[in-house]
Amino acid sequence: MIYSEEKCSLCTLNSIVCFWGDMPQKKWKRPILGVLSAIMLFGGGYAVHQVVLNEGVQNIYFNALFGFLGGLALLGLITSIFGCDRCVAKIFGSAR
Ligand SMILES: [Zn+2]
Repeated sequence: MIYSEEKCSLCTLNSIVCFWGDMPQKKWKRPILGVLSAIMLFGGGYAVHQVVLNEGVQNIYFNALFGFLGGLALLGLITSIFGCDRCVAKIFGSAR
């Protein structure tokens, strides 16, 4: 495993959000992360829309869960475009 020492403007934020630490860096993780994040954002947005229509916004656990997942998806999408390999690997997780 080779870790690049390259740093980007997202490194600080990602090291806080991705508390699990560094992960194996792979070239294919960037495009896959972008696609997955976009799907999560659109899918999550649709799910939130449905729940808000059906039960309103009182469901606090739902809000917390989708707030977290939505934030992660948004961060993943931004990172796949602007982030360095290290950030991409971090958000993507332990897949090798
Ligand atoms: Zn970075």
